[in-house]
Amino acid sequence: MNDNVYQIAIDGPSGSGKSTLAKGAAEKLGIMYLDTGAMYRTCALCAIKSGIDPKDEEAVKDMLGSMDLKIKFEDGIQHMLLNGEDVTGSIRTPEVSMAASAISALPVIRTAMVDMQRKIAADQSFVVDGRDIGSVVLPDARYKFFLTASSEARAKRRCLELEQKGTPQAYEDVLKDIIQRDKQDSERAASPLVKVDDAILIDTSDIGIEETLELLLSYIKE
Ligand code: C5P
Repeated sequence: MNDNVYQIAIDGPSGSGKSTLAKGAAEKLGIMYLDTGAMYRTCALCAIKSGIDPKDEEAVKDMLGSMDLKIKFEDGIQHMLLNGEDVTGSIRTPEVSMAASAISALPVIRTAMVDMQRKIAADQSFVVDGRDIGSVVLPDARYKFFLTASSEARAKRRCLELEQKGTPQAYEDVLKDIIQRDKQDSERAASPLVKVDDAILIDTSDIGIEETLELLLSYIKE
């Protein structure tokens, strides 16, 4: 690989601030940003649209054979295309979040997505965020970060986001979803959410996004 090409892996649970930070870091450094969660969300949406149980490995395997998932970057912004349709806006619902957590536990899905992710990040510098980037997708990434925050702090942030989007939800429901997704993501057999030894741990519970971004960038020597 070209020495000028480098990757930054950012892993952590939902609501830890990963995507905002990854986007911010990519912008500051003038490199690309890949949101891998959006890929699992698109698979989940495909299952929902096809009436398939996201936990049914055989049915999901058949679905994969005919699913056309593409990623398009327009002015650095990632768009998800499912069978030719731009679904970027429709993969952010609570229903898709929960189905994404279930479908991403299936090895057949992970193998396909990890393969795509490695190819995308091979020739250009990328910030990649997800759950298994530092551990599985890009174990040789030049920089690795693991973000964490209390489930309460993450639920509060998610509530604020949902409110700003005009789709408010009760704090208790959001917190319950976060706890359930954390459990699914960290207890699954295939690539569970773990902090690898060489990742820098940043707890974002009590620090704002600007401050966290500054802290993260302070480790980057590019
Ligand atoms: O990051 P986001 O919340 O959009 O991810 C949706 C779901 O996709 C997560 O709950 C997780 O189960 C799954 N995921 C994953 N591996 C990744 C990224 C996301 O398993 N690299």
